[in-house]
Amino acid sequence: MTRRHLLSLLSALGVASRAEAADGPKAAPAVEPLRLADAQWKARLTPAQYEVLRHEGTERPGSSALNAEKRAGRYRCAGCELPLFTSAMKFESGTGWPSFTTSLPGAVESKTDFKLVLPRTEYHCARCGGHQGHVFDDGPPPTGKRYCNNGVALRFEPEAA
Ligand SMILES: [Zn+2]
Repeated sequence: MTRRHLLSLLSALGVASRAEAADGPKAAPAVEPLRLADAQWKARLTPAQYEVLRHEGTERPGSSALNAEKRAGRYRCAGCELPLFTSAMKFESGTGWPSFTTSLPGAVESKTDFKLVLPRTEYHCARCGGHQGHVFDDGPPPTGKRYCNNGVALRFEPEAA
């Protein structure tokens, strides 16, 4: 099958147009929100997870086992299981927090916080609103972004061998 035939076949199936749209900035998949009462979050999370995810706490640097995690796999939100990052996005930032250059499309949303003197960009899970970390503009190529994530807010899922 030639490439042209393949493309017209895909286009007939509606595959190509969807694949194109997925590259667009507004093509993020719709995420069904998960809203729970505070007591429900408290019951379902560990105290450390609850503090970070629901109260924008920050874990002690170097405290997460995920800092040293180098296996292939996905990083899911510890609050709702939404996949946020892949191992391909992870890099060693030397900060003591798991760090990523980008996130899966539509998986996180951000806002500016003023908890410290300088404004920072907070980001959280698009499904449950759970706080994950802060994003900075001093990351490596290709994005130049550094998603500085609390390890306790993530659950690593190794790729099936
Ligand atoms: Zn979540």
